Amino acid sequence: MRRDRFLKTLAVLPLLGTLARLRGFVSGLPPSPRMPVLFLGHGSPMNAIEENDFVRGFREVAATLPRPRAIVCVSAHWETRGTRVTAMPQPRTIHDFRGFPPELYRVQYPAPGDAGLAAEVRGLARKTLIEDDHAWGLDHGAWSVLRHLFPLADIPVVQLSLNTQLDPVGHLALAAELQTLRDRGVLIVGSGNIVHNLGLVAWDKLNVDGFAYDWAAEARSTINELILKGDASSLATIRSRGKAFSLAIPTPEHYLPLLYIMGLRTPQDDVRLFNDAHLGGSLTMTSVVVG
Ligand code: ZN
Repeated sequence: MRRDRFLKTLAVLPLLGTLARLRGFVSGLPPSPRMPVLFLGHGSPMNAIEENDFVRGFREVAATLPRPRAIVCVSAHWETRGTRVTAMPQPRTIHDFRGFPPELYRVQYPAPGDAGLAAEVRGLARKTLIEDDHAWGLDHGAWSVLRHLFPLADIPVVQLSLNTQLDPVGHLALAAELQTLRDRGVLIVGSGNIVHNLGLVAWDKLNVDGFAYDWAAEARSTINELILKGDASSLATIRSRGKAFSLAIPTPEHYLPLLYIMGLRTPQDDVRLFNDAHLGGSLTMTSVVVG
């Protein structure tokens, strides 16, 4: 090789390296038909061990899914400064609640982790720095629903944290960057609750079917409409659209996992609601299948 050509080659090597890094993260995973994405309203941790319409809804949806090679779960119950992804080989089952019966604390969900998938998640997110995490595990936002979808716990799961420094539009953008995973057999699951005001739950009406405060009913109906239309940008700013929405979403963490699912929706995807019910006046269990 001539010296000038050699020098030119040297000059483009870093660029080639960057391109390889940008393109290369999912190359180890074989392509798959496009996977759906799910938002699951998880409700009480007791849903992990109770038999009710909601868990039957989870099982029915699971029966319609292709078997994923791995799962990325964004749970309402893991908020961090900066974005983190679990990268341990065997995530622990975290019982992150208090005052529940002993049998709930005995539940284990021993799904393996997937450090390779964690690396792919990190690599795909070009605008957001994502760091590996070896301390978290699977919180109840993840395992209380996954145990109904995949009871054998034999599919690897990684959790992606909710970065408290991102605004809703930032969460949508991060979600969109993970799109490739859907074509590599990865099921992306958001777990939260769309209407979620624990402070205003009518505990005496928990068993009254369909009981809802006016503001909760208004929020559910408007948000459902936007979900079905695929209007992700309106969903991102909904909390500032009036009192019904600030009451329905007093804090963002249970709502934000929905934005990950909407950020992954493409024009080709169908959108379907299930478990679309009020609970205790100030909660909804509404869940979404996209694709
Ligand atoms: Zn929760």
